[in-house]
Amino acid sequence: MREDDARLMREAIAEGRLALATEDVPVGAVVVGPGGAVVGRGHNAREATADPTAHAEVLALRDAARALGRWRLDDCTLVVTLEPCAMCAGAIVLARIPRLVLGAWDPKAGATGSVHDLVRDRRLNHRVEVVGGVLEDECATLLTDFFGERREA
Ligand SMILES: [Zn+2]
Repeated sequence: MREDDARLMREAIAEGRLALATEDVPVGAVVVGPGGAVVGRGHNAREATADPTAHAEVLALRDAARALGRWRLDDCTLVVTLEPCAMCAGAIVLARIPRLVLGAWDPKAGATGSVHDLVRDRRLNHRVEVVGGVLEDECATLLTDFFGERREA
């Protein structure tokens, strides 16, 4: 974990909170460029856009690629509040992201170390450094609060 990781995770958490406005599961992601500035942001927007692929990570990668004018993000870090699913892990590999920072692990569907580990598969020629558990409690609380309130409703 680097000094900046916690600060960037706070940005991802703030981004994730934006999903609450449309009753989307609050997951947020930011892409950090080579200079250390945030170049892409995304929050889960499946409900907002009626799109099953509108996960925070995919939207943040698209946002960063648009901002930088290139699909290859091999000098960027993706910071996300929840361990990526299989689709997002695939997108991270396709974008050539070298470093992934995640908050809460997802023991049910996580694909970067929990259920699967698609970003460190020896059969792929691109592998990702994974830093897990950054502000894990805050990231997990964001989700448990959301699902807790829904159960009560
Ligand atoms: Zn995903």
